[in-house]
Order: sequence, then C-alpha cells, then structure tokens
Amino acid sequence: MSQAGQEKYRKLNAEIISCTKCRLSAGRIHAVPGEGPVPCRIMLIGEAPGEKEDRSGRPFAGRAGIVLQDLLESIGLSRKEVFITSILKCRPPKNRDPKKDEIAACRPYLNRQIALLRPSVIVPMGRFSASVILEQFGMIPGRISEIHGHAFRVETPKGSVILFPVYHPAVVTHNPPLKSDLVQDFQRLLTVIETAGNSG
Ligand code: URA
Repeated sequence: MSQAGQEKYRKLNAEIISCTKCRLSAGRIHAVPGEGPVPCRIMLIGEAPGEKEDRSGRPFAGRAGIVLQDLLESIGLSRKEVFITSILKCRPPKNRDPKKDEIAACRPYLNRQIALLRPSVIVPMGRFSASVILEQFGMIPGRISEIHGHAFRVETPKGSVILFPVYHPAVVTHNPPLKSDLVQDFQRLLTVIETAGNSG
C-alpha cells in the first residue's frame, strides 16, 4: 500500500479510537478498530467487542477468539494473516444486541476499512454481520442458517469481492451442535480463498 494509503489507515484508526458518534462511546474502556495485514486478502467481521476486547482494545481476545484461532489453524491460517474486525467498534452494555442507530453510526468506519484494505474475501461472522455486509453490497440478506457456507461474488467498481458468511464463533458455546457447520464452512472457505487467489 502506498504511503498515502498507510497514512489514511492510521488516520481512520485514530478516528475510531476517539469516536463519540453513538452512546456506546460513553461506556467503553477501549474502542476496537480491528487488526491484521494492511492491505489484506481476507477480512473476518464479527458483531461487536465483548468484555475482553473492551479491556484490551483487541478484536476476538476472549473465548470466541480461541475458537476463531482454532478454526483458522484448521485451514492452515494464522490470526496474523487475516484482518479481524467487527461491525461495532465499541462494546454494547452487557453484550446486548447492536441497535440500528449504533450500526448506522459505526458502519462508515467499516466501509472505509473495506475500501482501504481491499480484501478479496470478506467473511461476515454471525447473523448481524452477515445482514449488514450483504446489504452493504446490494444483496438481500437471507437467514444465517440458510446462507452460511455459501460464497457470493459481487462486482464493485474496484473489482470483484467474495462474501462468505459463517456462523459466529461464539455459537460453539451458545449452540454446540452448530460447531460442525462452522468447521465445515471453514474448510469451504479455504477453497474459496484459493479460487479468489487464482482469479486475481
Ligand atoms: N465477538 C465479536 O463479534 N467481536 C469481537 O471482537 C469479539 C467477540
């Protein structure tokens, strides 16, 4: 990435860290912009920071992060090779669901991250993330139970991108039977990544 691009990325991070665009800023310890290679080939997008993320300022620093790391390792990837972020950059109180106005306030940050980092594969994790991302790319989002593990190629003015929704890694705790779907979807993700690589 050019020096100007790197500078834009630094500026964007600084904006996120000091953001006061919604009520969540009042209760946070840290905003969590995300981390990973700049630019990136693969971007994983969760829902919102939880307690550990709020304390550390790092994405997926808690239990869901361990599950995510295992899933990545199962397909030969490390955390360092992917960019990890969330729809909301600040923790909702008691980890409640994100509200519409919070998503609306935070969405431009994610859009700017996507525009700057130019991933060729975007992996929304969980129903919130899947619906926000599919909608963002002009698609009508379906239920996560129906769309997980499916690759959607979308054309943008800057090239094509593959959207590959999966369940949120926390599903392993909340709904253990879905773990096998998650594991299987990551195996499929590997093929998707290879395909994206081959098509440039
Ligand atoms: N869950 C998310 O969706 N994001 C995080 O950063 C941590 C847990």
